[in-house]
Amino acid sequence: MPPGVAEQVLPAGDISLVRKVGRTAPGGLRAPRTSPSPDAAIVFRARGLTKVYKMGEVEVQALRGVDLDLRSGELVVLLGASGSGKSTLLNILGGLDVPTTGSVRFLDHDLTGATDAELTRYRREHVGFVFQFYNLIPSLTALENVALVTDISDHPMTPADALALVGLQDRTSHFPAQMSGGEQQRVAIARAIAKRPDVLLCDEPTGALDYETGKLVLNAIDRVNRELGTTTAVITHNVAIAGMADRVVRMTSGRISDDKRNERRISPEGLSW
Ligand code: ADP
Ligand code: MG
Repeated sequence: MPPGVAEQVLPAGDISLVRKVGRTAPGGLRAPRTSPSPDAAIVFRARGLTKVYKMGEVEVQALRGVDLDLRSGELVVLLGASGSGKSTLLNILGGLDVPTTGSVRFLDHDLTGATDAELTRYRREHVGFVFQFYNLIPSLTALENVALVTDISDHPMTPADALALVGLQDRTSHFPAQMSGGEQQRVAIARAIAKRPDVLLCDEPTGALDYETGKLVLNAIDRVNRELGTTTAVITHNVAIAGMADRVVRMTSGRISDDKRNERRISPEGLSW
């Protein structure tokens, strides 16, 4: 089972690593927001991150000194060629991997000093993951796939509300095999956000989808970010997707080679590629 799914079906821990930021009232959504200000609270503060993978005699330097702050409510698109270190960086922010050197803080907590048990709790309570492949359980309906997570979360939305947020209110009783790829990915998004995570980390969420369904998936991510205020990072190698971001960070050979704010954010329907 991929790591994101394994995490989401573990029983809940008894201690919170850190308090959630800006959690909404049960059942309630925040009013639609405007872009977060450039001085909103810092959710992630990464400094000097390096990552070296050792494969026998061979060393691969995946990150070569990354400094990055992500602010509350931001939607950041992370662009870069294959092999530039995007997934490595996202996995470190999400507590799925640890850097070789450097530090990452999530709010007031040092992730790089965390034990494995603390990282597990951090992922379970604070992070929603979406991967290229949806990793749904084939024998469970859309509603049941989402309920796997809400059953073990502290203040989840109802599975029906989470599915409605991604536009799947009419697909709750469908099994994965009865849904399109785009619908399955939206179930995966509903599953990731139903626990009201502080951050939503998406690694090539449209990588396996065609143009139109890809846009519906991006729309779901955009809506979650706007309505729940979830700090969101989306990895893609599709430059056109950068238009939906508040901020675009580009990676080249394990380093951040560009980092700029979009003057205005284009809704995913308005993107074309
Ligand atoms: P991207 O997501 O931008 O395609 P990755 O972060 O996946 O890039 O990979 C960066 C580099 O690190 C690549 O050269 C890749 O082959 C290598 N790499 C990634 N994960 C591992 C791993 N688990 N073991 C060995 N090498 C890895
Ligand atoms: Mg990758």
